[in-house]
Amino acid sequence: MKLPVYLDYASTTPVDCRVAKIMMQYLTKDGIFGNASSRFHRYGWEAEEAVNVARDNIATFLGTYSDNIIFTSGATESNNLAIKGVAYAYKHRGKHIITSMTEHKTVLNVVYYLEKLGFCVTCLSPEKDGIICLNTLKKEIRDDTILFSLIHANNETGVVQNIEEFGNFCHSCGILFHVDATQSIGKIPINLNKLPIDLMSFNGHKVYGPKGIGGLFIRRDLKISVQPQIHGGGQEYGIRSGTLPVHQIVGMGEAYRILKQEMKNEVIRFRFLKNYLWKELQNITYVSVNGNLKKSIATILNVAFHNVNSELLMIELQDLAVSPSSACVSSSLESSYVLHSMGYCDDIVNSSIRFSLGRFTTLEEIKFALCKIKMAIIRLRKKTLYTK
Ligand SMILES: *Cc1c(COP(=O)(O)O)cnc(C)c1O
Repeated sequence: MKLPVYLDYASTTPVDCRVAKIMMQYLTKDGIFGNASSRFHRYGWEAEEAVNVARDNIATFLGTYSDNIIFTSGATESNNLAIKGVAYAYKHRGKHIITSMTEHKTVLNVVYYLEKLGFCVTCLSPEKDGIICLNTLKKEIRDDTILFSLIHANNETGVVQNIEEFGNFCHSCGILFHVDATQSIGKIPINLNKLPIDLMSFNGHKVYGPKGIGGLFIRRDLKISVQPQIHGGGQEYGIRSGTLPVHQIVGMGEAYRILKQEMKNEVIRFRFLKNYLWKELQNITYVSVNGNLKKSIATILNVAFHNVNSELLMIELQDLAVSPSSACVSSSLESSYVLHSMGYCDDIVNSSIRFSLGRFTTLEEIKFALCKIKMAIIRLRKKTLYTK
C-alpha cells in the first residue's frame, strides 16, 4: 500500500540522508566511537573534535559563540533545564514566573510543577489571533518576577511572537527571558548576537536531525546561572552531565549546517506551498484559518472545517498524515488548549486540523491532499445533512 502523504512535519521530520550518512561514521569500531571526554588518547580527541565542529555549526547558524551552547536530550529537557534551572538559581530574588497559555506542554507542565513547589506562575492569554501583547506582560510584571518564558513560533498554529520586543522589555526590568524556538528554527532567521534573549531551547528532530538530541543556549557572558538538573561527570561545564552522544551531536550539527546553507530558499518554497494550500482550501465553503496568517511560519497552517468533526475527517483522510492539534497531547486526545486559549469555541476547535509542510513536501503532494480533503468534506457534510 502507498504510504500516506506526510503533512505532519511539525511533530517530527525524517532525518536528512546527508545527516544519517555522517552519523553512521560515529558508531562502529571502524568509525569515531570514542568518549569525547577521554583526554589521553586519539579516540577521545577525535570524538571531541567532532563535537566541537558540530557545536560550531549550531552556534554559527544561531549567531552566537559555541561556549553558549549546551547539549541536552531534546527540547523537552532544554525547557526543563532553562526554567527549573533559573527558578532554583534565582529563587532568593523572587519566585514569580511568567509564561503564556499557548506554550508547548514541555513548558506548561514545568511551570505547573514549580507552582506546586511554591513558585508563583502567571500564564498570559493571547489575543484572538494568537499574538501576545506586550501590554499583557506589562500588567503582570511584579518586583519578584524572575523569568519570562515565551514560545517563538507556536507548534499548533505557527503564530510567531515578537521576541525582540519582549526581550527588550524584560531586560529593561531585569527579568531573564527564555524562548522556546523549537518550531521557529529553520523557518525564521535567529541572530542571538542581536536578539535580547538569555536562554533558548531547540532540538534536532524538528529540523531533519535525529531525535533524542537538543540544545540550550545560555548567554554565559552575562553570567546567567542555571542550576543543573542532571548531576554526574560534569560534562557541558557541569550544567548537564552525561557522556556526550557523539553521533547524535554530529547529526544535529550537520542538520544545522544544512539549514545555514539552504534555509533561505527552502522558506520561499514553503511559503509558496502554504499559500497554494490555503488558496485552494478556500474553494471549500466554511473554512477559516486559526491564528494570524500573516504572522505565522511558512510551514504550519491550522484550518477549521466548520461543521466537520476533525477526528472523523482524519479517519476519512487515510491517505494523509496530519494532526488534529499538537501531536504531544494526541495520546490523550484532549482538544487543543492552545486554540481554546485564543477564545475559539468547542465547535471550531473540534473541527480544526494542523497541516505542516517540510523539506520533502512537493506541489504534487499538496494537490493530492487538496483533492482528498475536498472529497472527504463533501462526504462528511452530506452525511450530517442526512442524519439531521
Ligand atoms: C517538539 C517540541 C518540543 C519538544 O521537543 P523534543 O525534542 O521532542 O523533546 C518543545 N517545544 C516545542 C515548541 C516543540 O514543537
